[in-house]
Amino acid sequence: MKYALVTGGSRGIGRAICIVLSKMGFPVIINYQSNLEAAEITKRQIEVDGGKAELLQFDVSDKVQIESALDSWENTHPDDYISVLVNNAGIRRDNVLFMMSDDEWHKVLDTTLNGFFYVTRRLLKHMMPRKRGGRIVNVASLSGLKGLPGQANYSAAKAAIIGATKALAQEVAPRGVTVNAIAPGFIETDMTKDLSQDELKKMIPVGRFGTPEEVAAVVKFLVSPEAAYITGEVININGGLYT
Ligand code: NAP
Repeated sequence: MKYALVTGGSRGIGRAICIVLSKMGFPVIINYQSNLEAAEITKRQIEVDGGKAELLQFDVSDKVQIESALDSWENTHPDDYISVLVNNAGIRRDNVLFMMSDDEWHKVLDTTLNGFFYVTRRLLKHMMPRKRGGRIVNVASLSGLKGLPGQANYSAAKAAIIGATKALAQEVAPRGVTVNAIAPGFIETDMTKDLSQDELKKMIPVGRFGTPEEVAAVVKFLVSPEAAYITGEVININGGLYT
């Protein structure tokens, strides 16, 4: 059976992506770091709708945890493989660069960039043989395209993910694997709850923050058979804020 793995599937955009992939018929592996309660809510929501989901806890920035979690998943699923990977887990630690601590810099890079590298490298081993095919979607950001003040760490990590998406897309296209990135603008989730929506939405042509479901709809398209000829792309979902 072909599974979908969503890193950071417990909350926000990741949860909406898990739900949409389940509705497409994929059994979904919901990764989370520490919020078991939120991950269980995602799982229950999928099951209520008749889908199938499993929880898989690991910290995407920790190679040892990733290897051990995926080893045990593979041992209990000898006939299955993960054909859809959404690298969604991410964090913000905003600060102006001259005040930024080593920890603020490294935590953001480790989660977004190293997380992408460790998880993707591991799963490609199973997508590539015998041209089984696969879909990889990387959740980048407007910040990685435009750069946002106070987010040099986050902008650097998201820009790096976009570069890696374009390079990897060319490496694996002959094996039937597509690799794309999405670049959301301001989306209403826990990550943005400390921001002033009233001030920020004045800058957004559509006049509001986006919803996680509006982001998930683009992932649904990129994972669908209709998107087989799209790879190495970055799709903006930002209400017209930046293109
Ligand atoms: P969120 O509501 O804060 O959720 C973050 C998710 O990432 C949670 O599921 C969290 O797990 C998980 N996570 C964080 N660090 C992790 C780690 N080291 N290992 C595994 N999982 C980890 O954030 P969101 O707004 O949905 O953001 C999702 C993605 O979209 C991120 O990559 C973010 O950068 C990107 N994005 C968001 C916006 C926006 O406006 N919200 C805009 C552009 C891009 P726990 O629940 O266990 O903590």
